[in-house]
Amino acid sequence: MRFATVMVAAFAAMNAAASLAWAQTNDAPPPVLFTNVDVFDGFGPDLIKGANVLVEGNVITQVSTDPITVEGAFVVDGTGKTMTPGLIDMHQHVMLNPPEGTAAYQTRWDGAAGGAFAMHHLVNNMLLKGITTVRDIAGDPLDIAKGIDMGLLPGPRIYSSGGAISQTGGHGDWAGRNVPPDLLAGHADMSQATQNTWVVDGPEEVTKAVRLNLRRGAAFIKVMGGGGVASEFDPLDIMGLSEEEVAKAVEIAKDNGTYVAVHAYHDDSYDRHLRLGTRSFEHGFLISEDMVKRMVKKYNETKDIVWSFQCFMSINSFGSYDTMPAFFSHEQKLKGVAVGKGARNAAKWMNEHGMFIVGGSDMFSPGLVERIKEDLTCNVKAGFTPTQALKHWTGNAGIVLKWSGPKDPYPTYKLGTIAPDSYADILLWDGNPLEDIEMILDESKLVFVMKDGLTYKNTFVGAGSPIFRPARAPLTRGQFPL
Ligand SMILES: [Zn+2]
Repeated sequence: MRFATVMVAAFAAMNAAASLAWAQTNDAPPPVLFTNVDVFDGFGPDLIKGANVLVEGNVITQVSTDPITVEGAFVVDGTGKTMTPGLIDMHQHVMLNPPEGTAAYQTRWDGAAGGAFAMHHLVNNMLLKGITTVRDIAGDPLDIAKGIDMGLLPGPRIYSSGGAISQTGGHGDWAGRNVPPDLLAGHADMSQATQNTWVVDGPEEVTKAVRLNLRRGAAFIKVMGGGGVASEFDPLDIMGLSEEEVAKAVEIAKDNGTYVAVHAYHDDSYDRHLRLGTRSFEHGFLISEDMVKRMVKKYNETKDIVWSFQCFMSINSFGSYDTMPAFFSHEQKLKGVAVGKGARNAAKWMNEHGMFIVGGSDMFSPGLVERIKEDLTCNVKAGFTPTQALKHWTGNAGIVLKWSGPKDPYPTYKLGTIAPDSYADILLWDGNPLEDIEMILDESKLVFVMKDGLTYKNTFVGAGSPIFRPARAPLTRGQFPL
């Protein structure tokens, strides 16, 4: 019975998406000219009032407060609306959306169900809610990403790390307690069969796992630098990959022109990764103010590291024992309480000292994935201004995505900004989120979603108009032209 319900839900989601996205047109879409719209360009601090924005194909070609005239353009009067770049969730796990958390693939669901859950949420809880890009930071949605890029499936852009790189017993070891050692060593448990995580030990195995991810199209590499909340065998205080293992992951990533992101909570793991060349620092909710200062100093000197803040999960969900996900054990909930406390301090220090920050929800599984945008609004509760919060989720994120270098699946234009030579990922809001950040949670205020020059949501311009055209993305990643 339960299985049937899930299947029906999945089909309903796909049909709804199909009516929006799967029809094809052979006509070249006309240029789209937005007029008299107030623009948040991804950085601010102020809105560009009364701007005109021209989209040609899948790219923004002009942003100006002077009039723009273009032959044959479809004109959208943006009076009273605010335009922002599409939102970018920099810490997502789209393949980990079965309800029981990371262990679910061991006992309850196969990879096909994992893909169906992923598609449902990519469409309904990301793209249609204005999240036009996700950085998927452990998990393997790489062929779903390929289907999206080929125009076969609707969905946001996906920058994926492929499977997480973890040591045995680390944050990426999701196998059951009774999996025989020879099966673990042979990578035969289900999490690894789905390639959502790799359990590896020693520089040689790290090399192999990193290269397997990159071979499949990973844009960057995710490693486990210490213990976690949602895994069973690793107290928060432990270290993850060893010095040699981290150095090897960073070396192979650099050899491929891309970077390493680390899951880590405390000073010891941040220290190891700062010394060894990791660039994206996730979580960090137990670090000291001295470590924050060290990170800011390094950022100011090199501009090559970032702090990735998971506000909602650390401050809201882990705010108290009772607000944590129901599938967590007692021990996992205790770990979460410690994280919630540290997170408030980390956010305050990062803000005060001026760290370069992106926002990533880490919100997956039913009950959380529907609320992803609350991570952005949570930034304001943590002491950031609405402008900073939006910048974490747009302009700053776009900069970090480009650190993938030759592994960037969307290499041609900028992301996270409303500026010439940017992908046309555009939202229109009925109101001004810089004045009232909570309005972004009201879906009726999000009147228009464009990704890659194609319209996915439009409650604003007449539905019969040329702007409401079927989505058909150009080939940017698929190797098999249709
Ligand atoms: Zn995560």
